[in-house]
Formats: sequence, C-alpha cells, structure tokens
Amino acid sequence: MIEFKNVTKVYQNGTKGLNDINLTIHKGEFVVIVGLSGAGKSTLLRSINRLHEISDGEILINGKSITAAKGSELRRIRRDIGMIFQSFNLVKRSTVLKNVLSGRVGYHSTLRTVLGLFPKEDIQLAMKALERVNILEKCYSRADELSGGQQQRVSIARALAQEAQIILADEPVASLDPLTTKQVMDDLKRINEEDGITTIVNLHFIDLAREYATRIIGLRAGKVVFDGPVEEATDEM
Ligand code: ADP
Ligand code: ADP
Repeated sequence: MIEFKNVTKVYQNGTKGLNDINLTIHKGEFVVIVGLSGAGKSTLLRSINRLHEISDGEILINGKSITAAKGSELRRIRRDIGMIFQSFNLVKRSTVLKNVLSGRVGYHSTLRTVLGLFPKEDIQLAMKALERVNILEKCYSRADELSGGQQQRVSIARALAQEAQIILADEPVASLDPLTTKQVMDDLKRINEEDGITTIVNLHFIDLAREYATRIIGLRAGKVVFDGPVEEATDEM
C-alpha cells in the first residue's frame, strides 16, 4: 500500500510540482496517472521512492514512512520498488544480463556487487525474468544493441529480478512506436496480474490509460482532478 498524506513538492525555483496530494494506492492495483505535460506526473512518481525530497507531508509504503526513513531502512523500502524510465536507464555498454542482475544489488554486500559476484540463484532469477518478457535470447547482447522496446523490456526484467513489490513507470512508452508500446504495456499488465505487483504508470494519452488501467488518476497543476475507475474517466483530462 502507498499512502500520500498532504504531500507538497516545491522545487527550488518556487514551482509547485505537487500541491497537497492525498492518495491511497492498494496492493495489486494498476494505476495510470494522466495529465498534460507539467501536470506533476513525474514529480509524483519520483516522490514515491524518494528520488527527490518532498517539501511537506508524508509518504508511507506498507505503513512505513519513506519520508522519515534513513540508511538501511530506506534501502530496504527502496528494494521493494522498481523504477522504469522513458529513457530506459540501462548501462548501455553492459550486457543485458548484467543490467538485469543490477536489480539484485540491494540484496548483497557492496563488495560482492562491485566485483560482479552474483550467486547462481541470482543468475537463474535474472534469466527467468528475461524469459518472462520474451527477451532471453538477447541476454549476452550489449544493452545498446537492442531496440527501444527491447531495452524497455530489459528494464522490466530488472524490476522482476529485484523482486519489486511496486513498479513505478515514468512515461515508459513515450519514445516507442505503437506496436512496441503495446508489447511493453502488455508485459507490465501481465506481470501486474500474475505477480500482484502494484503498478503505477505515467502516460500522456488517455486512450492508452483506458486500455490498461483499473484506476485512473488525473493531475493538473500538481493537484488530483480525477481519481476513479476507467469507465468514469472523461477525455477532458
Ligand atoms: P509531468 O511529469 O506531468 O510532465 P512534472 O512532474 O515533470 O510534470 O512537472 C511538474 C511541474 O514542476 C512543472 O511545472 C515543471 O515545470 C516543474 N518542474 C519539474 N521538475 C522541475 C525542476 N527540477 N525544477 C523546477 N521545476 C520543475
Ligand atoms: P523498436 O521499434 O522496438 O525500437 P527497431 O525498429 O528500432 O525497433 O528495431 C528493430 C530490430 O532492429 C530489433 O529486433 C532490434 O534488435 C534491432 N536493432 C535496433 N537497434 C539496433 C542497434 N542499434 N543495433 C543492433 N540492432 C538493433
């Protein structure tokens, strides 16, 4: 469960990215956040795993405040949260397998992971994750040899290998063509259904949101202007 309690985020230049947000997202939901560019979608998503600090309020993950968490407690909460970006954020010159294994880093000592010493079980887990997004045959390719859609599926596999309970996807299909968009969204949806992973996806397009979401949250100027089931969402968002 993810809870926002009166969350406000003011950037250094005074821009309000989020303005007094209150939300509860339950385990297993597939939530799509919609809104025009600048509405606060990315600010909201980045606040959840504390990629940036909020200015006011509190965010709880499964009852624990990530806002107040420090050190090992913060790392433990973050381990449950997988992040997927528009720009894939893979290590380009590294292999697909190594990129997926980076999802295991939080489970081991720093020394082991710096040396790239992952136990056999981790490699099996990574391979299984790649298989689930249909890209196992690329496991020894360099990440930057893959197409955009393939790279995004690798980043989904990384979240799976991480054994994330929550996946946050920030405009995951913004740079992809329609066919690849469908593959990536289908993968996210299938994993949400099979594993019960709470999934929050930022999207530009309401049509795509309608197709995949169970719940749509509409943002405008840092405020929630719609929150409800897909059937009630209108085109004006
Ligand atoms: P969206 O993801 O919906 O396009 P953002 O969350 O990126 O919206 O932005 C919300 C608001 O915060 C916008 O007005 C944007 O210009 C502003 N903003 C985002 N990032 C920063 C930043 N680093 N510094 C200042 N303002 C920012
Ligand atoms: P997408 O629409 O998914 O980005 P592309 O049309 O870019 O797909 O890629 C189609 C095929 O070309 C893919 O199977 C991919 O493996 C291959 N490909 C794309 N970019 C590269 C690259 N830089 N190096 C090698 N193969 C590539």
